[in-house]
Amino acid sequence: MATLQQVLQKAVREGELYEKIDRGFVRCYACGHCCRIPDGQLGVCKVRYNEGGKLFVPWSYVACEQCDPIEKKPFFHAYPGALAYSFGMMGCDLHCGYCQNWVTSQALRDPNAVSPPLRMTPEALVQEALQQGARVVVSTYNEPLITSEWAVAIFKEARAAGLATGYVSNGNGTPQVLEYLRPWVDLFKVDLKSFEDHHYRQLGGRLQPILDTIRMLHEMGFWVEIVTLIVPGFNDSEDELKRMAEFLVSVSPDLPWHVTAFHKDYKMTGPANTSSATLLRAAGIGKAAGLRYVYAGNMPGRTGELENTYCPNCRALLIERLGFHIVEYRLTAAGCCPDCGAAIPGRWAVDYQGQTADLPYQPRSLRWSNRSGILRR
Ligand code: SF4
Repeated sequence: MATLQQVLQKAVREGELYEKIDRGFVRCYACGHCCRIPDGQLGVCKVRYNEGGKLFVPWSYVACEQCDPIEKKPFFHAYPGALAYSFGMMGCDLHCGYCQNWVTSQALRDPNAVSPPLRMTPEALVQEALQQGARVVVSTYNEPLITSEWAVAIFKEARAAGLATGYVSNGNGTPQVLEYLRPWVDLFKVDLKSFEDHHYRQLGGRLQPILDTIRMLHEMGFWVEIVTLIVPGFNDSEDELKRMAEFLVSVSPDLPWHVTAFHKDYKMTGPANTSSATLLRAAGIGKAAGLRYVYAGNMPGRTGELENTYCPNCRALLIERLGFHIVEYRLTAAGCCPDCGAAIPGRWAVDYQGQTADLPYQPRSLRWSNRSGILRR
């Protein structure tokens, strides 16, 4: 039986986000690690590797696919009610102890994480998305930056079919990867996990590349929403949340900020689950700092009005939500408040026709029968 690493090394092609440097080394620019990789070695993410002085990158497979309400990503200011056809590959440049997608993201680090790949073409994936009624195709579940060449191949096909595209990312980017993605990616969700560099180092990264990426994404015209999973004792201090919110305001007060509730997962089982009171406190800090759109997530019905979108000008209710479910939608076709006419930032559909699905579901139950045989790492 082949190992997962061996199977994945048959699903590759030469990458585009790298340069050859001296003595057979390559420099990868797909994420903020900017690995300098010698011949025969893997990058930090363990899915991009140097062979013979060329960088090989993941290609032609998916590790999981799912039909998600776009509110689950979460995007609250982009095509509300749309179905987001979501796919993921394997690997990550970070190793967060509370990862909710560790089965795919940590598949090459953790022997308990087994998720067989499925061979795929961009055409087949987009056809499936269209058949399911999707409006958006999203790269998610593992870190999409590290598999950007494959995502762009899919997004070219998706765009040609009239679909929007998105990334759900940890934001550990580089100017090179953002320029590469700019023509093909509409929506970008970034996890801002902490405002302390030493916390990021515990997770395998650094703070500054994430802050730089958020600012660049906004300046480059991607639609950006920010998520912070509030983990008690890790990132929920008054001071840290305040600095985080002030940074976001300095990028734009129109950046939606989702503060979401942690629950014990994967290797992080020490902290208590986040209480609704803590989420309300975090949201209050965001609003006091000047953010116009602050949302509370992972606690449907338990955070008052913090699931809804309100007009910042006249306070009219614009979109009422309960979890992923849209209860009421009042924006005009131009994305304005129907009461005072204020323009609401986002990517709005001119033809809102209700919600496609308010719960995730699997697109094809038979797919598992096609998967390659892999039982161990
Ligand atoms: S994607 Fe990031 S971690 Fe992977 S090889 Fe490139 S720079 Fe290194």
